[in-house]
Amino acid sequence: MTVWIALFLAAPAIAQEPGDNRIVFPASVSQGALVFGKVPAGSVVEYAGRTLRPTPWGTVVFGVDRREQGPLRLEVLRADGTRAAESIAVTARDWPLERVDGVPPKTVNPPPAIAERIRREQARVTAARTRDDDRADFAAPFIRPVTGRISGRFGSGRVYNGQPGAGHSGMDIAVPTGTPVKAPAAGVVTFADDLYLTGGTILLDHGHGVSSNFLHLSRMDVKVGDRVAQGQVIGAVGATGRATGPHLHWGMSWFDVRVDPLLVLERTR
Ligand SMILES: [Zn+2]
Repeated sequence: MTVWIALFLAAPAIAQEPGDNRIVFPASVSQGALVFGKVPAGSVVEYAGRTLRPTPWGTVVFGVDRREQGPLRLEVLRADGTRAAESIAVTARDWPLERVDGVPPKTVNPPPAIAERIRREQARVTAARTRDDDRADFAAPFIRPVTGRISGRFGSGRVYNGQPGAGHSGMDIAVPTGTPVKAPAAGVVTFADDLYLTGGTILLDHGHGVSSNFLHLSRMDVKVGDRVAQGQVIGAVGATGRATGPHLHWGMSWFDVRVDPLLVLERTR
C-alpha cells in the first residue's frame, strides 16, 4: 500500500494505473501476428534490434514474421533502471499454396525497364514504412475496410501463371469495382500513387511502425499527409496492377514485417 501511494505521488501525470509495475506479454503468439504487450510507463523494450516505446498507457506493439520460429526474446528496461527478460513462444501456421492463373504475363515476367521501375516504386513504399510516430491509432479496435468474401489469405505461397512468386502479403476481399474503402483504423496517409504491380496504392500509418496498405484501387480520395479517421472513405476498390479481377488487397506491416490483418481484426472483435 505504501509503495502504491509513493508511486502515485511521484508520477501523477502518467496515464497508466499508478504503481502498475507489471509486464504482460502473451505466452505464445502466431506467425504473422501483431503482438501487444504492457509494460510499466517510462520503460523501453528491446526486440529484434529495435527499441519499442510504450504509449502513455504502457502499450507496446511489434510484428511477428510469417516464417518466425521463435522463441521471441524481449528485454524490458524499466524507468527505475531494472531489467526483465521475456520469452514468447511462436505457434507455427500452415501456409497453403494458391495458384493464380490468368495474370497479365508482363506483370509476372516484366521486361528490364519495367523491372527497374518496379524496384524504384518498391523502394518508395519501403521508405514510407520506416516511419515511427508516437500516434497510438494502432491500439484501437480495427474494422473491416470493405465487407465481402475473403478470396485470398495472408501468408499463402503464390504461384502466378505456374511460376512461383512471393508469399501473399495481405488479405484479398472480393468486392465490385467502385466499392468504397474505409480506413480500418485512424492514421496518416504516407503514400498514395499508381504503381505498376499494385495499381492504385495507399499506405496508412497507424503509429509505432504499424501501417496498412490498400492495393489495386480504382480511385484514391486522399493524398500524402492527410489525417484520416476510422471509417473514413479513402478510395475505391478496383483491379489495377497485377490483379485478375476487382478486389481489395489489404496488407498490414510493422515496419518491414508483414502481419496478418485477419489476426488484427480477431484481436479487437
Ligand atoms: Zn492480394
